Amino acid sequence: MNALTIIAKYDLVIDGTDNFPTRYLVNDACVMLGKVNIYGSIYRFEGQATVFDPRKDASGVRRGPCYRCLYPEPPPPGEVPSCAEGGVLGVLPGMIAMIQATEAIKVLTGMGRSLAGRFLRYDALNLSFRELKLRSDPQCPVCSATPSITQLIDYHEFCGLKRGQPEANEELEISVHDYAALRERGEEHLLLDVREPFELGICQIEGNVNVPLGQLSARLGELAPWKHKLVISQCKSGRRSMKALETLAKHGFTKVRNLSGGILAWGEEIDPSINAY
Ligand SMILES: [Zn+2]
Repeated sequence: MNALTIIAKYDLVIDGTDNFPTRYLVNDACVMLGKVNIYGSIYRFEGQATVFDPRKDASGVRRGPCYRCLYPEPPPPGEVPSCAEGGVLGVLPGMIAMIQATEAIKVLTGMGRSLAGRFLRYDALNLSFRELKLRSDPQCPVCSATPSITQLIDYHEFCGLKRGQPEANEELEISVHDYAALRERGEEHLLLDVREPFELGICQIEGNVNVPLGQLSARLGELAPWKHKLVISQCKSGRRSMKALETLAKHGFTKVRNLSGGILAWGEEIDPSINAY
């Protein structure tokens, strides 16, 4: 937890992170240090930007809300797909980054009116910008007048992630080594790859059946012959496949396992020809 030491040396932070633990960590550290945090995020064809300005004016009032005022709770782990999973329009990061850079220059030079208190949404498909008003949450645990969080916390824990193996349920996991041995023995099983079709274009394990997680509930009928046979669920990192496993178990599939660490672990430990992404 050296975020405070690192950020203390800088005038402002431009948030280019892609995960929730880091977002909350950067936010809290910036509020505690009174540093401006220039926020941007992207997903598929949409981008968002704002300025979190926790600096206090002469009367001790902060200039704007913080990330926690906007999102008091992180989403459940695995619910929001990463850019690698959900995809992102290639030029979109450039668009949002230029807005962030513009805001950074304005904050540093004290010119113009920043996006503090305004949430900008950019829709690339429509080529439209929308602006929402952001208010400080008087109960905000970090930036309110009486904060309940005054030191950095364990952000992985806060976001419901255990270090290393997010959401792993050990009894249901199968390691890539055990799975390799199982394949070697020729044991009957179904390898269910629940990634998106474009991800299979990057890499895949031979013999898989692809049913993207979002289609699984609707396509369970196709898997009926496997209801009481071994099904090994697999995705990129093991998180989506765990969700798939839960769906299968709920619908009466009795022998389900999750490939621990997903195809990335398979590539690292077993098959070096797998393209990492
Ligand atoms: Zn706040």
